[in-house]
Formats: sequence, C-alpha cells, structure tokens
Amino acid sequence: MDLRKLFLKANNEPETNGLLPRSRHIVCKGCGRRTPVARVRREFFVCPSCGRYYTMRARRRILMLTDKRSFVELDRDLVSRNVLGFAEYDDKLAAAREKSREKEAVICGTATIEGHAACIFAMDSYFMMGSMGAVVGEKITRLFEYATEHHMPVVGVTVSGGARMQEGMISLMQMSKVSAAAARHGDAGNLYIVLLTDPTTGGVDASFAMQGDITLAEPGARVGFAGPRVIEKSLNQALPKDFQRAERVLACGFIDAIVPRDRQRTVIGNLLGLHEPAARKDGSDGRL
Ligand SMILES: [Zn+2]
Repeated sequence: MDLRKLFLKANNEPETNGLLPRSRHIVCKGCGRRTPVARVRREFFVCPSCGRYYTMRARRRILMLTDKRSFVELDRDLVSRNVLGFAEYDDKLAAAREKSREKEAVICGTATIEGHAACIFAMDSYFMMGSMGAVVGEKITRLFEYATEHHMPVVGVTVSGGARMQEGMISLMQMSKVSAAAARHGDAGNLYIVLLTDPTTGGVDASFAMQGDITLAEPGARVGFAGPRVIEKSLNQALPKDFQRAERVLACGFIDAIVPRDRQRTVIGNLLGLHEPAARKDGSDGRL
C-alpha cells in the first residue's frame, strides 16, 4: 500500500513518522485550509485557522507532556497473541503494527513533567483504535504496580474505542484488572491524573479512564460508554448536539477541568507539584 496515501487518509494526522516530508501541508477537515506540518507541530497539533484538534500519536503526546529526554519506556516488547484463534485477528494485528509502527495500543514509562517524577501512559488510536486487549491491560496494570512500589503518581492519556472484541472475555477482564491496580495505587496514597482525549469510550471509559483523582479532558473530546446512536435507539429520543462531548460531561460533573493542549504540560506539572510529598520515602527529593 502507498504509505503516503495511508497517512493522508487517516484523520489528517500530521504526525509524520517518517512517512511524509517535513515540507508537506495538511488540509484541515474542519476549515479546509492548508497548513505546513511544521507549523501544526508548533501549534500543538491544533489547526491555527479553526482550532480543530488533530489526532495525536502516543509518542508525540508523551514528548509534548514530558521534559526533554526524560522518558524511559517500560514493557516495550509485550505483544498481543491470538489466543482465542479469532478469525483474521493475526492479520489485523500485523496491519496495526505496520500502520502505527507500534507494538501495541499503549506506551508506558517513567518521565519528569516540569521537573516532577511520574509514571505515564498514553494510548494510541492508530493501533486498532486504541482498543484494550490483554497486553494493553497488562502494560497499564504493571505501570500502576511500578508506581505503587515507587510511590509515584500516574499520568494517563486515554483514547480508545473500548475493549478489543477479538480477545473476548480476556479483554473485558482487563477492566477489572487495571481498575484494581489503580485502586491499590490510590489506597497507598498516590496520585492519578487522567487526561481524556477524543474519543475515550467503551470499556476504557468504564474503568481506569474514570478512576482519576483528577480528571482532565481536551476540548470537544467524546467521552462516554455506548455510542450515541445506540443510546438514541434504546431511549427512542433525540440526544443533544453536544452529547458525550467533554464540555457537557464537565457540566454533568464527571470531569474536573478541560485543558487546551498548549496548557496541558503546565497544568499537569503544577498538579504534580502541588501533590508531591515534601520528602519521598526513599529519601530523594521526589525527582528522577
Ligand atoms: Zn482548520
């Protein structure tokens, strides 16, 4: 397949991943204007003309949120297997790896944010729409366990279509597994900040995306469990235009704040600083 076509097709994602020369423009789906990729990068992947938020890849997201060269990845080599023998799952996994150039739909590790040590995970919608299978669940669980052991906060960036149907009950089980690890992390007095991005839905929304001590969201992000069409059909009534959008979810009390991209690093850094113990139990000053 032509990689450039694949790149242009996918949500106008300006992340190049080496697929597109730096001098290229992207055409905004919101306003139709052409903007150089380099400028889009400088503008935090937001259209400078109409303010539309572009999809961000997980690694780009981590780069944006963390201090330069501070990110150390954990469990990079965990890969999914087709344990149920689900038809075409192997092919889909291979295609997702090729398309995303990632091994799975979440990236986990440690970093500093504005000088404050944290464990961080970011989901990637380019890998099977950020769906949660056994490996996604396992990586995030391990991250929470690492953070609990080292008395560190967790910062999570979610984007997901929900549980990965090709893994059946095994994928649903990840909801309780990650939730239990997040609860143990919280019970030990550690902070969990979650940033909901568009879309955060299904089994991810119904588990660790909603367990943050502080829940932030990007403007306009869709946050919900079932899709609006399903709800509309079952209720047999029209839903408001902003249904499941972050602004409405905020008004309903499920989100603490909506934070634009250019402020996310500062806001999260400040929150980590406010909650950082004066002296870490291991005697360090709380920094990596
Ligand atoms: Zn635009």
